[in-house]
Amino acid sequence: MGHKKYNSFLMEKTLLLGDEAVALGAIYAGLSGVYAYPGTPSTEITEFIQNNPLSKERKIHSRWCTNEKTAMEAALGMSYAGKRALVCMKHVGMNVCADAFVNSAVTGVNGGLVVLAADDPSMHSSQNEQDSRFYGKFAMIPVFEPSNQQEAFDMMSIAFDLSERLKEPVLMRVVTRLAHSRAAVEISDIKPENAFNPSTSRGWVLLPGIAKKQYAALIEKQPEMKAVAENSKFNRFEDGGSSLAVIACGIGYNYVKEAAENYGIKGLKILKISQYPLPEKAVLSLTKDCKKILVVEDGQPVVEEDVKRVVGDKAEVLGRLTGDLPRQGELNPDNVAKALGAKVETEFVQGKNLAARPPQLCQGCGHRDVYGALKEVITKYENARVFGDIGCYTLGALPPFQALASCVDMGASITMAKGAADAGLFPSIAVIGDSTFTHSGMTGLLDAVNEKANITVIISDNLTTGMTGGQDSAGLNKYEAICIGLGVEPEHVRVVVPMPKNMPEITRIIEEEINYNGVSVIIPRRECMQTLKRHKKK
Ligand code: SF4
Repeated sequence: MGHKKYNSFLMEKTLLLGDEAVALGAIYAGLSGVYAYPGTPSTEITEFIQNNPLSKERKIHSRWCTNEKTAMEAALGMSYAGKRALVCMKHVGMNVCADAFVNSAVTGVNGGLVVLAADDPSMHSSQNEQDSRFYGKFAMIPVFEPSNQQEAFDMMSIAFDLSERLKEPVLMRVVTRLAHSRAAVEISDIKPENAFNPSTSRGWVLLPGIAKKQYAALIEKQPEMKAVAENSKFNRFEDGGSSLAVIACGIGYNYVKEAAENYGIKGLKILKISQYPLPEKAVLSLTKDCKKILVVEDGQPVVEEDVKRVVGDKAEVLGRLTGDLPRQGELNPDNVAKALGAKVETEFVQGKNLAARPPQLCQGCGHRDVYGALKEVITKYENARVFGDIGCYTLGALPPFQALASCVDMGASITMAKGAADAGLFPSIAVIGDSTFTHSGMTGLLDAVNEKANITVIISDNLTTGMTGGQDSAGLNKYEAICIGLGVEPEHVRVVVPMPKNMPEITRIIEEEINYNGVSVIIPRRECMQTLKRHKKK
């Protein structure tokens, strides 16, 4: 096969981040398009695909999307046309695309569709540690959870095949430790792209009459999904004979192996699980010889709850719910070893031996000037509140600015400012970034315009998606037109350049717009210092 040359180019083993293994696995599985919104720890997947020479040669579609919902829907469209599509996002992005995601299990798919969710236990860079496996269960579709980089690569091809066999989307869940650590990966043969083959099924039209049939068909597929998981090569036993059985899920398997090695724990009976629905027969078989089962899973106790249901009173189930493992945060070999009964004298604690160094906006960042001006103005008002959003500028909540009253989810700044203004708060101000505004702020602005809410919205435009490393911002050069198009009065859409020398002008404009009784938008615009440096270097 002509594609073999790439394997010899990559040689037998290649050192890859977990995210890169996912990306390369997708390319080698015959991917036609990746759709994504950047978010740590998933961003590197799409970047790897964008920069890989194979993607250019194979013309793999790989542009950033406006948000995770548009990404999911575009991927579904590519699948409808018969091609293989990948959607990537961080875990909270699953909340944004949930409508399309859950319904895609009801429509079914045509070309293979894999949804990649990168979870962030311990919240290294996130506002919660929700577990995406819940979404897979909720939508009733297969879920893959690689335990290492090799599995991440290998699973991609199998996930696409399974998606096409079942005609259902498939979810793959990774966690930060796997996404951002490297290991040697053996590369297999590359597959050709699917032929263009648009669906002719009526199942895509989710009118109630059709949706009922489609949902019945999804329920009918459940035994097959279960059988595939029971026989998956990614789910296997290691019978060391111990009376305590261990169910090790995804990266939890690595923690168990490392704990056993570090603390000399021998003869563990392990059921490794990396593919769902839960292989219930395999779980139940553990109760033949073991009356205690420890569930080791990084994230929320998704499997622990299920195992309790499956084994009933046949065995005691231990894990995060019983306090044998910490209820919150990432697992590590030390806390797993403790749960396995080892004597652990000094347990690893995240960041314990590091000097506290709170994150800060870069020196020279335009957001600093925005907050400097905003603070100067709002100190004059007793009840002024600034509702924040998600991006580098969330750091405005920390010293020296301490300017923000909230940061909840993408786009919430505008709608929260509106709600607070509805309740009588004045001045009610929103600060949102350019990329976050197009992601989820525009609809909230329309709500505010429709009710002539008395709010001032600051769209801090750094011409990129700064927090995740400088990806394209979907509304580049269109922000004034978008705001005016949504109904903001043109004379109340003001653009400023956030620089120390412009402080008097910026503070004057903020003051004027706060005192306008209606929706006003101020757009401080200056390029992110980091992307500016890169552009200058180029
Ligand atoms: S990365 Fe860019 S936007 Fe973010 S703090 Fe640094 S300069 Fe500002």
